[in-house]
Amino acid sequence: MADESKYVYFFGGGEADGSAEMKNSLGGKGANLAEMTRIGVQVPAGFTIPTEICNYYSDNDGTYPEGLREQVAEALKQVEEVMGAELGSKDNPLLVSCRSGARESMPGMMDTVLNIGLNEQTVQALAEHSGNETFAWDSYRRFIQMFGDVVLEVRAREGEHHDPFEALLEAKKTAAGAQYDSDLTAEQLQELVAEFKAEVKSRTGQDFPDDPIDQIWAAIGAVFGSWNNDRAVVYRRDYGIPHSWGTACNVQAMVFGNLGDACATGVGLTRDCSMGAPGFNGDYLMNAQGEDVVAGIRTPKRIETSLKDEMPEVYEQLETIGKTLENHYKEVQDIEFTVQKGRVWLLQTRNAKRTGFAAVRIAVDLVNEGLITPTQALEKRRIPADDLNQLLQPIFDPAGKVEAQEAGRLLTRGINAGPGAASGRICLTAEEAERLYNETPDEPLILVRRETSPEDLRGMRVAQGILTAFGGASSHAALVSRQMGKTCIVGANEMNVDYEAGTISVGDTVLNTGDWISIDGFTGEVFTGQVTTKSSEVVDVLIHKTQAPEDSEAYQRFAQLMEWVDEYRTLGVRTNADQPDQAIEAVAFGAEGIGLCRTEHMFFSHLAEIREMILARDPAIRQDAVSKLLPFQREDFAGLFRAMDGRPVTIRLLDPPLHEFLSERHLEEQPGLAEALATQLDISVEEVRSRTAELHEENPMLGHRGCRLGIVFPEITAMQARAIMEAAVEAQADGITVHPEVMVPLVGYQAEIDHQAAIVREAADAVFAETGTTISYQIGTMIEVPRAALRSDEIAETAEFFSFGTNDLTQTCLGMSRDDYGGFIGHYRENDIVPHDPFQSIDQGGVGRLIELGVAGGRSTRSELKIGICGEHGGDPASVMFCHRAGLNYVSCSPYRVPIARLAAAQEALASE
Ligand code: PEP
Ligand code: MG
Repeated sequence: MADESKYVYFFGGGEADGSAEMKNSLGGKGANLAEMTRIGVQVPAGFTIPTEICNYYSDNDGTYPEGLREQVAEALKQVEEVMGAELGSKDNPLLVSCRSGARESMPGMMDTVLNIGLNEQTVQALAEHSGNETFAWDSYRRFIQMFGDVVLEVRAREGEHHDPFEALLEAKKTAAGAQYDSDLTAEQLQELVAEFKAEVKSRTGQDFPDDPIDQIWAAIGAVFGSWNNDRAVVYRRDYGIPHSWGTACNVQAMVFGNLGDACATGVGLTRDCSMGAPGFNGDYLMNAQGEDVVAGIRTPKRIETSLKDEMPEVYEQLETIGKTLENHYKEVQDIEFTVQKGRVWLLQTRNAKRTGFAAVRIAVDLVNEGLITPTQALEKRRIPADDLNQLLQPIFDPAGKVEAQEAGRLLTRGINAGPGAASGRICLTAEEAERLYNETPDEPLILVRRETSPEDLRGMRVAQGILTAFGGASSHAALVSRQMGKTCIVGANEMNVDYEAGTISVGDTVLNTGDWISIDGFTGEVFTGQVTTKSSEVVDVLIHKTQAPEDSEAYQRFAQLMEWVDEYRTLGVRTNADQPDQAIEAVAFGAEGIGLCRTEHMFFSHLAEIREMILARDPAIRQDAVSKLLPFQREDFAGLFRAMDGRPVTIRLLDPPLHEFLSERHLEEQPGLAEALATQLDISVEEVRSRTAELHEENPMLGHRGCRLGIVFPEITAMQARAIMEAAVEAQADGITVHPEVMVPLVGYQAEIDHQAAIVREAADAVFAETGTTISYQIGTMIEVPRAALRSDEIAETAEFFSFGTNDLTQTCLGMSRDDYGGFIGHYRENDIVPHDPFQSIDQGGVGRLIELGVAGGRSTRSELKIGICGEHGGDPASVMFCHRAGLNYVSCSPYRVPIARLAAAQEALASE
């Protein structure tokens, strides 16, 4: 609060104590009511009690600071004066509403009470003053019903199916032969009021309060109390709204949209917020109160189609108000209004919520209309970077999705790991997926697995979407599908996958291989059956090339926005890609290099050779097997250099534990594999089995992986380094500029990188000597275990660049397995143990601290050290913003997240200017 002893902020009659700047104290609604009053928009007078009082109320057993009562009494007087009506008056009674309003809107989560001030006397006065007895008694019965529910908690008890007031209302309608509430007469409504009051008395043991001041205070208490109701708490958790904010409480004179024919109530938008088209639009109801629009009892009419004819003057007033508000706020507004006898009153305005499609269109249009500048268009509140996703992914047809929900086809939920929407036939193995794809390439498939391993890759490639029962946001399935731009849900824990029976089930619902299933990677929802999907225009233009840029307005606006983004962004954006096609897509999305090529993914097309390498005991035999892999790797790398055409390419040496390529599970699941390997290696089947068993590790992610592989089997590193350099020489000979960056994984000790760097240099020198060419290259390291961050100064003596592998760094910093945290993270989130999923958004306090230490240490040795991030966090807007602040040079993320990272980087650059 600006003034510590000021607890009440009045607005009305063209003057206001507050303003739009005071959102933190007055909440969005209160701040904007004050602002509208200031700029001459007609608003019923009222006052706002700030959020700080809500916090006081919560912290002090429902009591208020001294002085509040007096200030409220004073403000009520002012309201009476401006409105020319008085609380409790027997001639012209003032009625007020009492509404919640937090800093950010939390639609429908907290409480509201309307028509406060009515009692047996004032209801008569209202009848006379309005000349409408039915209206007066209807207002009174609505008041008792709302106050009874919200304040006195007269609700359906356990075992009761109906709200007690609704039950009485229904009974009255039946007895009166009335179809609608509005068919009841004044007498019937008066009887209903008596019945409602009797119900309150019988349920609470107390009379319904008559004193308007008592009513107001009880309603204020209920509004503050509703900040902590379950609904509100859950909503805040979902939307990352701090519990400490509190809600403000707005007490405001009532105006009535249900006083007859020249009356109406409605909600409107100054532009369309689903696709962003200009023009005032919204819903209204003639002769109705605001809650009727929301309650859905009567179907509202559309402002843009019929209001102009029904109430031309009102339409004109609304259009003018809309323009005034847009010009003032420089933003699309979402308003609530009431028309009382031909006069439009505004009850609320706020920046409208919108889809990603609308956000981009509106921001670009507002710039082109001269209302805002490009830097304003890029503000994070206008276009949350993540919302760009909607423009890049197929989505479910909204109507189709609602239909599926209403038909009870929601099967289960998991972690939303790869955005987009996909419908397809269930297949449970990669082989089956490939077979079906080869038979009917146009038939979409969803690969459903308990979890995925790298060898499922071939199946993932041909599937439209991936669904797994286990795993978290940085599990293999998640990161590979994001890299491929596939829709993916992981960790759908309720789902049981039975490979033998060829079924998946959740509770009693069983689906078979070949049945249709639909997954929403934005929300984690899984539906049975088919839901229609729509493709992305931006992707059709940039990637599929099925639409020309000039034919797509959506694409043109996207392109204009991204031009501004690149003008203001200082952080580089690279991509995680292992194949030329992924690299080409990423470049189309604006990637400036490859920040991570995981070489192991390439090996899955050459399992026979790699298994031979793993099973070899004798170094000479191993060398032989490794050499067979060289040409494949060389070809893969050359493809990447060509695709990136002069941009830097970071290639990481082999990283995963070897059991991912060969384990006892593989031998079990693939009959004949042991025999085939025995023949290939000329050893016995028993020998194959015993060597495979030796590879078993209890904790492979902390086992023999990363640079530990290249240190124990140096011939692997030597082969990879040779393949990289030979590919670079080959590409350079074709006129392509190459910038290879060789990256050593999982380094903790300087000695580890020293060891690997020596092998790489030796291999490179040999290639250069053989070919008579030299290539400039760098050797760097991933920083993905805490020790590397802590000793980064030493490591930077050898490493020429750093890249934070925040998947492993999170896993090792938190001691939380990236593959197993799905089992408890839901509980952690629900109980506010962690503010978000640490594998999706960097844990800035812990992992972030290690990153800062790593940056400082590295640059203390090499002031110009190039530093990036290539964990999955590189595509998460909050993490990208953190990386900008931490002084990184670039982030690297999956191709489809490149535009999102670019936008987030620009937003942070502008915010920290
Ligand atoms: C990481 O650990 O963040 C990383 C990029 O490596 P990977 O996910 O392949 O372990
Ligand atoms: Mg890693």
